[in-house]
Amino acid sequence: MTELRGVGVGRGVAHGPVVRMAEPLPAPENSPSDLDPEAERARVREAVSTVAAELQQRADAAGGSSQEVLEAQAMIAEDPSLQEEVDARIDQGAGAEWAVHDAFAGFRATLEAVGGYLGERAADLDDIAQRVLAHLRGVDAPGIPDPGHPFVLVARDLAPADTALLDLEQVLALITTDGGPTSHTAILAREKGIVALVGAASAGELSTGQVVIVDAAAGTVTTDPSAEQIERARQRAADRDAARSAPPTAGALADGTPIALLANLGKPADAADAVAEGAEGVGLFRTEFLFLSSAQAPTIAEQRTAYTELLTAFPAQKVVVRMLDAGADKPLAFLNDAHEENPALGLRGLRSLRASEDILREQLTALAEADAATAADLWVMAPMVTTVEETAYFTGLAREYGLKTAGVMVEVPASALLADRVLAHADFASIGTNDLTQYTMAADRLLGSVAGFQDPWHPAVLRLVGEVGTAGARAEKPVGICGEAAADPLLAVVLVGLGATSLSMAPAALADIRLALTERTLDETRRLAEIALAADDAAGARSAVAEAAASLPSHQKETTS
Ligand code: PEP
Ligand code: MG
Repeated sequence: MTELRGVGVGRGVAHGPVVRMAEPLPAPENSPSDLDPEAERARVREAVSTVAAELQQRADAAGGSSQEVLEAQAMIAEDPSLQEEVDARIDQGAGAEWAVHDAFAGFRATLEAVGGYLGERAADLDDIAQRVLAHLRGVDAPGIPDPGHPFVLVARDLAPADTALLDLEQVLALITTDGGPTSHTAILAREKGIVALVGAASAGELSTGQVVIVDAAAGTVTTDPSAEQIERARQRAADRDAARSAPPTAGALADGTPIALLANLGKPADAADAVAEGAEGVGLFRTEFLFLSSAQAPTIAEQRTAYTELLTAFPAQKVVVRMLDAGADKPLAFLNDAHEENPALGLRGLRSLRASEDILREQLTALAEADAATAADLWVMAPMVTTVEETAYFTGLAREYGLKTAGVMVEVPASALLADRVLAHADFASIGTNDLTQYTMAADRLLGSVAGFQDPWHPAVLRLVGEVGTAGARAEKPVGICGEAAADPLLAVVLVGLGATSLSMAPAALADIRLALTERTLDETRRLAEIALAADDAAGARSAVAEAAASLPSHQKETTS
């Protein structure tokens, strides 16, 4: 038995046999073929129709939106014009593999040039081409394997489309050698409630068929476990399922201190999931997600409809709506389409709204109208607020429109450091730990090469969170957390110890965080926060807090996770 380490997503535990995701196939050589063209054409036809039939079978089994994606792929595989392109290359002396590789690449370029919906299908062609090539070579196709039994998937990393299509009945757990806690894979795994461990570099040594226990709470993979260890893991998973299926309660610490548990949402239709998971309201509604593909600013009427739908889903509950957050990773053409050398440091968030104040005013108008038509408790906030003056500008404007609760997102060290003065103008602060980490650590949150810096456990980030927490307590104003950090069960407890009064996250993470809060008293969260702040770096903070938490007494009758 050996133990590998990584960063756990959530706190689930699962066990099962490993199946490794195949690496992409190397491109074939472009050397002239002396094989019979007729036989090569037949080989391709056979491979293509087998791949199309496999995709169709998967489509039938998948259902829902995955079915549509896979059916479209099956049709593309057998597209006659693609077949003609392959045949033409074989007739010119190419072997079957090169002809497939080259014809699919040409088709991909054409689709990309068309753009729009067809352009978006271009990446699907790579997957089909890889499947056909694998068939021609007689090897396993890359992509999510389908061994016909439940398994623990081990991969370098997953494309978002792969993660979104994971069959939760089959994939017991996910281990990636690359990626960190804020990678797309981790975010999607959290959203789907998959037991996952990311950044487990030594998982590259695991081989297909080997039985492992994946413990996301501990951040470990145990290889070749004993029967007793498997039984313990099974029991923990069953206890956790039981705790998660109990009717959700309001978020609270072991001593009864309430910590509101709220949802991060990107569209009104997601409200049902949040309600089902027991969200006590919405802590972050990302309005820009509604309009990412719009060339023109949305109209007041179109916005009013969306906001009314959202607010109606939360009668009498708090709903925090963020003004359009354009820029860097979320470009909105109608707010800022200028080329910037450093877009994360550019005209983004409130800065770009201020530069187009009519759009900001229209959004506030739509929100005020939706508020008047519904019973929810609407709070509005501005993204990426840096200065006290910006805070006064935004909250003043919101009040002009009759919006009674106006606050700011603290995502920049400047506003965290002056949180006391920011909170003199704002009714509340909500800390966006994704951007606050990016700006504190000077590490682009989109850039893999600096992903190691993008860790909200870093004591520098936590010290800033503490500044805001202390300022909030002094001013008796709420301080929420709405970045990914709130969805990490161990870190969530530390954030509460630093002064967070509410936590907002993807609905699928709520159950784990609810459970984690019930295990600690307010005093204990403060002690754990001090331990984190005393560390030199993120890894040190994480491991010191994990160790200290493990030695604290359990406040639950039974340990459920
Ligand atoms: C954040 O930065 O933490 C945040 C919640 O906002 P977004 O992830 O949308 O930038
Ligand atoms: Mg942000």
